[in-house]
Amino acid sequence: MIHEILPVGALACNCSIFGEEAGRTAMVIDPGDDVDDILALVERHHLRVASIVITHAHLDHVGGVAELKKATGAPVYMDALDEPLYDRIEIQASWLGLPVPEKVAIDTKICEGDEITLGETKFMVLETPGHSPGSISLWIPSLNKVMCGDTLFRDSMGRTDLPGGDSRTLLRSIQSKLLALPEETQVVPGHGPLTTIGREKVYNPFLQGL
Ligand SMILES: [Zn+2]
Repeated sequence: MIHEILPVGALACNCSIFGEEAGRTAMVIDPGDDVDDILALVERHHLRVASIVITHAHLDHVGGVAELKKATGAPVYMDALDEPLYDRIEIQASWLGLPVPEKVAIDTKICEGDEITLGETKFMVLETPGHSPGSISLWIPSLNKVMCGDTLFRDSMGRTDLPGGDSRTLLRSIQSKLLALPEETQVVPGHGPLTTIGREKVYNPFLQGL
């Protein structure tokens, strides 16, 4: 499995591009911006984008979704609980002083227990609300990886001061969904360096005493 992580946009959102070698199909997670760079990377690996998955509807994670969908025709997956955020993306743009991106229809609403497949590989949807109501993580057991959006970071966790954020909900999500994964699971956060579940259990100051 090809896995490239491309920091995109002004806030350096970690956009993940997975590509399966057999059928040359790709999944793009959180195309927040810099769609030309994403497409160039997809092309370099001779892939065809088959799915676009959103971990949560903050502008830095969804800004390039419409442009990428237009370029590839791939369906968009998002948790319905973040639709109110997505529907008012122009408010987020005004806070951040960024241009308002084009919006696009969400093709498939995903929720806890859903699976999205890429070739033979299963991406399991874990609902991890707190940073936003519809935040999800994608766990890929066969690769020992979890894409956790802005729920958990190396030594930190997502902010909860934005509309729909809630710190108790976030801690509960981390404890019940992420810390329950095998310790060797590699964590790919929405921003910044990678880590593992085991490392965060020991060193993350926000998780001590859980
Ligand atoms: Zn966010």
